[in-house]
Amino acid sequence: MAGEPQDDCLFCKIVGGQVPATVVRETATTLAFRDINPQAPTHVLVIPKAHHENAAALAAAAPELAADVLRETRAVAEDEQLDSYRTVFNTGGGAGQTVWHAHAHVIGGRGLEWPPG
Ligand code: C5P
Repeated sequence: MAGEPQDDCLFCKIVGGQVPATVVRETATTLAFRDINPQAPTHVLVIPKAHHENAAALAAAAPELAADVLRETRAVAEDEQLDSYRTVFNTGGGAGQTVWHAHAHVIGGRGLEWPPG
C-alpha cells in the first residue's frame, strides 16, 4: 500500500537503518543522504520516509509530503553552499529511474549542461 514500508525497497531499508547511508539531513518525514555513485561534487538524494514509487505517485497521494521533499532540497543546497544546482526527479524507467522509491537528486558543485542526456 502507498506510504507503507516495502520489504524489497532499498530506500525503505535505508530509512529503517538496515542498509547504511551517509545521512546529511533528517526531518520527521524526510531523509537526505549522499548518493553512492556521485555525479558531481554534491550529489544528495532527498526521499520521503514513506514509500511512494516515484515523484508522480508521491504528488498524487501526498502533496504535502512532496512539498516537504522539495523544501529539503533547498535546505541541502543551502547546507552545501550551492549557488546553482539541479533538482531532478527521474520518473519512470525511460527517464532513468532505477530505484522505485521517490527521490530528488540534488546535484551541484560543478557546471551543468542543458539539455541533460
Ligand atoms: O533516479 P534513479 O532511480 O536512477 O536514482 C537512483 C540513485 O540511487 C542512483 O543515483 C544511485 O547511485 C543511488 N543509490 C544510492 N545508494 C544505493 C543504491 C543506489 O545512493 N545503495
